[in-house]
Amino acid sequence: MHLPDSYVRTQKHAARPDWHLIEKKWRQIWNEQKIFESNPDPTKQKYLVTVAYPYPNSPQHIGHGRTYTLADAHARYKRMRGYNVLFPMGFHYTGTPILAMSRRLVSGDTELYNTFLNVYGVPSKAIESFNEPVNIARFFHQEIKQGMNEMGFSIDWRREFTTIDETFSKFISWQFNLLKKKGLIIQGSHPVGWCPRDQNPVSQHDTLGDIEPNFIEYTLVKFNLGDIYVLPVATLRPETIYGVTNLWINPHVKYVVAHVGEGNEPMWIISRDAVKKLEHQGHKVDIDHEIAGMELVGKYVNNPITQNKLPIYPASFVDPKGGSGLVMSVPAHAPYDFQALLDLKIGNSSVGLHISDIVKPITIIESEGNEGGNVVPSQIIIERLGIKDQHDPLLEKATTELYSHEFYKGRMKENTGKYAGMTVSEAKDLIRSELLQNGIGEILYEFVNKSVKCRCGEECVVKVLNDQWFLDYSNVQWKGLAHQCINGMDIVPDEIRSEFNYVVDWLKERACARKSGLGTRLPWDQEWIIESLSDSVIYTAYYIISRYFDGTDNKKTAENLTDSLFDYIFLGEGSLKEISERSKLSEEIIRNMRTEFTYFYPVDTRHSGRDLVPNHLTFFVFNHVAIFDKANWPIQIVVNGSVLMDGKKMSKSFGNIIPLRQAVKDHSADTIRVALLSSAELLQDADFSFEALRGIRSRLDDIHQMGLLLSSSNTNNLSLPEQLYNNRSVAEFEDRWILSVIQRRIRDTTELMERLRVREVLHTILYSMEQDLQWYNKRIKSKGRSETLVTKILTVFLETRIKLLAPFAPFMAAEVWSSIVGDATGTRANLVWPNSMEECIDPAAEETEDLIKNLIQDIQNILKVTKIKPTHIRIYTSASWKWKVYQIILELIITNRNSSLGDVMKVLGDNSEVSRARSDVKLIKKIMEDILSTTIDRRSLKLSTKKLDEPRTIEDAASLISSELGDENIGISVFSEDDEDAKRNDPQSKAKFSRPFKPAIYLV
Ligand SMILES: [Zn+2]
Repeated sequence: MHLPDSYVRTQKHAARPDWHLIEKKWRQIWNEQKIFESNPDPTKQKYLVTVAYPYPNSPQHIGHGRTYTLADAHARYKRMRGYNVLFPMGFHYTGTPILAMSRRLVSGDTELYNTFLNVYGVPSKAIESFNEPVNIARFFHQEIKQGMNEMGFSIDWRREFTTIDETFSKFISWQFNLLKKKGLIIQGSHPVGWCPRDQNPVSQHDTLGDIEPNFIEYTLVKFNLGDIYVLPVATLRPETIYGVTNLWINPHVKYVVAHVGEGNEPMWIISRDAVKKLEHQGHKVDIDHEIAGMELVGKYVNNPITQNKLPIYPASFVDPKGGSGLVMSVPAHAPYDFQALLDLKIGNSSVGLHISDIVKPITIIESEGNEGGNVVPSQIIIERLGIKDQHDPLLEKATTELYSHEFYKGRMKENTGKYAGMTVSEAKDLIRSELLQNGIGEILYEFVNKSVKCRCGEECVVKVLNDQWFLDYSNVQWKGLAHQCINGMDIVPDEIRSEFNYVVDWLKERACARKSGLGTRLPWDQEWIIESLSDSVIYTAYYIISRYFDGTDNKKTAENLTDSLFDYIFLGEGSLKEISERSKLSEEIIRNMRTEFTYFYPVDTRHSGRDLVPNHLTFFVFNHVAIFDKANWPIQIVVNGSVLMDGKKMSKSFGNIIPLRQAVKDHSADTIRVALLSSAELLQDADFSFEALRGIRSRLDDIHQMGLLLSSSNTNNLSLPEQLYNNRSVAEFEDRWILSVIQRRIRDTTELMERLRVREVLHTILYSMEQDLQWYNKRIKSKGRSETLVTKILTVFLETRIKLLAPFAPFMAAEVWSSIVGDATGTRANLVWPNSMEECIDPAAEETEDLIKNLIQDIQNILKVTKIKPTHIRIYTSASWKWKVYQIILELIITNRNSSLGDVMKVLGDNSEVSRARSDVKLIKKIMEDILSTTIDRRSLKLSTKKLDEPRTIEDAASLISSELGDENIGISVFSEDDEDAKRNDPQSKAKFSRPFKPAIYLV
């Protein structure tokens, strides 16, 4: 058994493997062996991996592949570690997007038609059938499923379902009945994001660009203009009403005068955009006539609280789309207002109006640094930031800074009546209530997002819906449980935990039903259809029993699925006998379902994209804590970023959408998988490029080729690493080194894998291990070694690398592994994650190879600088006493984290063996530098290593050193400073410069 000469990186010339055939073969084998089908097994620990299921309204592009690939690599890793892993998949048909898409096609949208036809290669015949919305879902469902198989996802397809299956609808009815019973579904009037064209609430699933429609509550304060008119102004800071000095109006905008509400109240003057908003929010509005903004400039209104007379000033920054189209001015506390007044004063406003008597700021809040409130805080901050005019972007910063300072550290001044002395936050709520109670104020909701558009193209609004059904995410107790779950679970990466808690706090009542779309009807109010972000929150539990209702057994249909049956399976409630009678299912089947649920639940890990944190993932938590007992709350959530193509977002307009199946066809599944997971940390966006793909593919091809070569030279004698490690004949430095490195790589990748730091894992396997291999190859080649032991060691190395790669490149791993174990059918090809044998990590062995690498580099540097072409190189290793000095300083630095020269000198002085070293301060300083420039981990390793046998190590690598220097005839001699020999062979007294791990060099 000999190492084939051809093996050392000659594989470049080998023919590329046909990955399509290999992938096809393995898909078939996995399928036939049903290895991804998981059933309860009490002897094994279970692991339930789930990922947000796809919405089949278009095919998958590579961007969609990232989350699923990560979940699959995670599932495969856990399976290799001996877990009974269940990785199920379903398809989300619920909602209106499919309807909207069908409607666009029917109405002759050629852009959409061409995208389907040309970008995604959907046959025209299939597109014709898309006039029936459900056909869109059915078509892309199959397309996506096919793509998932081609990617090698290890899914248990027996559990597949769609959200419009009758049996699933029964499950959702149960969920909703239960939530209603618990008082978590309420009917009432609440604001929602709304598409006026579709007459439906909108959520992230329904908006262009997947924007979550967030809105915020303003107070609309009405300022009287005489007795006939009011000018309502929207504000987030009602407490500043005491500091209003004027109103702002846009002189170039046409306003309307309108009757709002019933009765003989004064008419409102508002922008035309505000009319629509008010109407959607429950106000009756009748427009009487138009009025130009300019006409109102210079008029006076009354402050409804202080009764002060306030002028109306012109300002082009007033946006008619914002609030009512009018703005109240609080210059003392709002930097924008202060600056606008300044600009007006110096004639800097866009309207060159002459205003002789400009108002003065009124300070109404005192705060830390402004005790008594005697200075105008806006002015101070504007001057400090050097703000130039009202268009200065720094005003935003000034506003935020001042607002948060006064909100947390401010108190109302004596000029605020009964609110004097209160904190700003207290006063804010009380003043708001006073305004609302006295009819001086109204509520107005506004989107936080600049623009929210429905998928149908319509601009969305905030609508106050009456008699709508809401999930009461405002419920304080419910929020408390959600926090408890989030704070008790693993969130990967942990930095995103605070974002979850933020969303929990911020969530309000959420409309959970629509009048149109696909999905399940509300069980108690059949007019309504449960919307897509509400029927997708606990379906992870349904996976566990879905295979019992896959349609193959006629006896079990939706009719059997009663609420009490679900209570029994998921909550362990009720009597088995009664439930069996009522559902007409046998006790045995019901008991099996319950057993299966208690075995597989809770969800061990839930994977999703980062964009689902503010909705789906948080709802997933909310609904789990509402429905299940604590033991069934999810254990982990993993969040990842999205995928860019050559640094750009993937989108139709950039023409850079790559369908996933096409990418697999062109580059192989393993390549795509590795590329998706290796280019970015979890939360970052992964940047995809064809160049990177080619690099990954050739790396995988190399590993595959090496596997085939080694397995052909090592047919049936599978080497056991344990034997190798115990074998004392492993005497060569490089053997001990690589065996140690293998164990360290296993340990490191396992630790990284547990935290799903897959980018680093792949970097270690593909690049660091490649360097390990190349170094080992150089060493054995320079010694002319090719004996059996080398082959065995290389096989262990390869086996390890293949195993570590298997979760990411499963096809290649299976192929190589089956050839190593000589099992083409793969029945024995069960890949197990390697356990690191920590005790076999040998720091001394790793230090010796490092010594040689560094030495070669040092010599190369000297040659480069001096341009000498040596015929001989003398290397001097340091004396034993220097090693003692080194160890003492090292220990001192490790204990103290750092040490001064004085400390070091003192300790050396206390030790008679090394006290003479104190005369060579230069040496001591150099040693300290050496140590401080190594990593902290490495320092402890060096401490445990003690003294290296440097002369032997270097002599062993002599032939490598000369060949690395490009001339095998260069002679290498090694002298230890301890030996008399060294002195005779040291004409330039170089030996004294040697330090531990840093021999001195003399070129002849
Ligand atoms: Zn719409």
